[in-house]
Amino acid sequence: MKYKKCPRCNLNYVVEAQNFCEICQLEMSGKSTNFDPIEWDFCPFCEKNRLENGEEICKKCREKRQKNTSFDDI
Ligand SMILES: [Zn+2]
Ligand SMILES: [Zn+2]
Repeated sequence: MKYKKCPRCNLNYVVEAQNFCEICQLEMSGKSTNFDPIEWDFCPFCEKNRLENGEEICKKCREKRQKNTSFDDI
């Protein structure tokens, strides 16, 4: 069987007869299995780190702000 790279994710190999890899097929059908269904709040400043226990800013950003005095306190 011939294999090609999945044109969507460019990561997984798929049988040439198939259009997309299984993961992309699942994602496109809205049934992604490896996606965490829990909705996390993300830090609005870096938009990368999760917020814990109702925090409004992640630890890293908070540290940054404490160090960087040129930032005005909001
Ligand atoms: Zn894919
Ligand atoms: Zn942050």
